[in-house]
Amino acid sequence: MGESFEHVSRAGLLAAEVLGHAPAAERLAGLPGEPVLLAIGAAEAATRRGQLLLATAANLLGRLFVFAPAIDVDAAPVSVVPGVPGLRAGRPLGAEVQTFLESLSPPASPFRYRAGAAAVSYRTALVIGDRPPPAPVRDAVFVGADAWRAAVGPEPVSLPAGGEDVFNPLGALVAAALGAAEIAKRIFLRLAEGHPATITPLERSVTWDLWQHRFDGTTAGPALPRRLDLGRIAVAGVGAIGSAATLALAALEDVTGTVELVDDDTLSVTNLERVVTARAADVGRRKVDVAARALRGTSLGTVRMAARFAIHAPAASAAETILVGVDSGAARRRIMNLLPHAVYNGGTQGSELLVSRHVGLEGPCLECLYPESTGAPPAAQECGRAVVVDELPEATIGFVSALAGFLMVAELVKDRMGGAGPLDAARPVARLDALGGTPEASCVEAYRPRRDCFCQSPETRRRARRTRRA
Ligand SMILES: [Zn+2]
Repeated sequence: MGESFEHVSRAGLLAAEVLGHAPAAERLAGLPGEPVLLAIGAAEAATRRGQLLLATAANLLGRLFVFAPAIDVDAAPVSVVPGVPGLRAGRPLGAEVQTFLESLSPPASPFRYRAGAAAVSYRTALVIGDRPPPAPVRDAVFVGADAWRAAVGPEPVSLPAGGEDVFNPLGALVAAALGAAEIAKRIFLRLAEGHPATITPLERSVTWDLWQHRFDGTTAGPALPRRLDLGRIAVAGVGAIGSAATLALAALEDVTGTVELVDDDTLSVTNLERVVTARAADVGRRKVDVAARALRGTSLGTVRMAARFAIHAPAASAAETILVGVDSGAARRRIMNLLPHAVYNGGTQGSELLVSRHVGLEGPCLECLYPESTGAPPAAQECGRAVVVDELPEATIGFVSALAGFLMVAELVKDRMGGAGPLDAARPVARLDALGGTPEASCVEAYRPRRDCFCQSPETRRRARRTRRA
């Protein structure tokens, strides 16, 4: 990113893109007077899953900054349980979430966060659980989760409280991101002149089974095993997408392994919109240090590398599994050329996110998805829009990259469990427009290797076999 873009809000650019115009100042000025209510039912507030959903929703809504300048957090009088990233165990839940929200923006920012619902009628609320909100709400969004499932929409969805031995955070993380997206849609529509087709609130509630990527609410994945070893993995880039992957790793319970955190950048003010492990006080710190803090206290080891994957991997890197959260097609191609055994890739473009899985040179590689620009339009593909053009600065927003990072870790965990998710060599891509699309079966897409890609050459195949033996 160039210095001149340091203070350009990526969310502001995205708002202008989806609205077709920059939001009018007088409409933005009305938002502080209409707080968003973030409410959690008493039963959910007592659980780690409910608290994780609340903390993550607050994390993503708070980072909307000028678009959600006032948030009221209503929670039962319970204490924070251990193992909720961002919250300190033992503190009163509502006040702790308020403190967390306040830590996201520099002191003297014009934002207002409060614990407890006011005696007013709210225009918009995000409600965790299936109980009515604590105050009248004109337009409520309900979210819920169990182990592998995330539910979101205008009607409450009951998911049975699981008696799982090992906590699975993935459903809750994805539900929080989808819920934040629904709230953002309503805020953007308030700022719109007319009704832009780029923003479509869900008309019915959706349940996303992350294990199978099914959406009919009839399936649920298996419980996490007592012991799960992630091995040695690298997170390439701990900005928007990589920080979300790091947060998901931190929320997993008792998994073992070593995480290489690889990023040569420092945190800037505009990064606060999307780096979900960062607080305002972190501006100027190395991104790898901010990410490592999120993993402190977990059973995962960390190795920090203020470096990047280039023609060679960083000298200290030994990972054969790479979570790719870098910000350009060129950087992705460089990583693919190192021929790691497994790549879990996340990318965003505007309100759209893409997650792809590439294991052992079966199916298309990362360069098949992000070919070097030849100046000519890319060849037609079943998933043609997956081809991403490098642009600076990018119009994007926190819940989009967060969803990508969470889904990447879900695919990694599925592979480590030996499970068969639907992201495979034939259908390696999941894609969603977080403001204009609906989570549904068509989000998982088939994609073929490009015949002219380096991954199809005999030399590359030989090199991959040699690398594996080394
Ligand atoms: Zn390829």
